[in-house]
Amino acid sequence: MDNEKKGPTSFSKGLLQSEELYQYVLETNVYPREPEPLKELRGITATHPWAVMATAPDAGQLISMLLKLIDAKRTIEVGVFTGYSLLLTALTIPQDGKIIAVDMNREAYEIGLPVIRKAGVESKIDFIESEALPVLDNLLANPGNENSFDFDFIDADKINYRNYHERLMKLLKVGGIVVYDNTLWGGSVAMSEECTPEVRKEGRQSTLEFNKLLAADHRVEISLAPLGDGITICRRMH
Ligand code: SAH
Ligand code: CA
Repeated sequence: MDNEKKGPTSFSKGLLQSEELYQYVLETNVYPREPEPLKELRGITATHPWAVMATAPDAGQLISMLLKLIDAKRTIEVGVFTGYSLLLTALTIPQDGKIIAVDMNREAYEIGLPVIRKAGVESKIDFIESEALPVLDNLLANPGNENSFDFDFIDADKINYRNYHERLMKLLKVGGIVVYDNTLWGGSVAMSEECTPEVRKEGRQSTLEFNKLLAADHRVEISLAPLGDGITICRRMH
């Protein structure tokens, strides 16, 4: 498949020392184990002008393993786009699992929906077209939702990561996991302000502040895995 070789989902996300090394990881470890529906969705998404936003398949592979390790059933996803990480989660959690998936734009989700339907996992998904923050606040308005989620994947507006985090610390179970995407922001976190391309400046600043905040937050254990554009895995400890 063409999109397995080059294309917008390859090096733009890889933070390894070379494109060849990233391709090696994808071709040796990731693509051979990637479920068919995800391959199909990745192929469809590759032609989208914003294809680079889709979750990197190598990061997806780790997310899928995390979901299984904690036997996740109730999850929240913020930032759906065409649904790569959403479909990955839906394929991984059990039949009675549920995902609350939030995106303020349903259009891209509609592109992925036929693949999600064909894979037979649509019933696990509760898609909400909205800004994410009010959805999390709505969930918190019902005390029954506190300490009730096993897993969250956060992949939308970086400026709000700290606000999502405060709410998720209440929604997640102790022992639950939240994964934050793009925490290396194209490698710009290690660049000087002057060397950072203009388009990356704002995201870089939010990411720097958020990474600092997480490192000082003793409610969570953390690991920043340099997969894709960087994913920070946080496990709520208390
Ligand atoms: N996880 C997706 C990629 C998400 S891209 C995948 O694997 O493909 C980021 C998405 O976040 C976009 O679809 C955008 O519409 C959405 N988004 C941006 N700001 C948001 C907000 N404040 N609330 C909810 N969704 C938002
Ligand atoms: Ca992302």
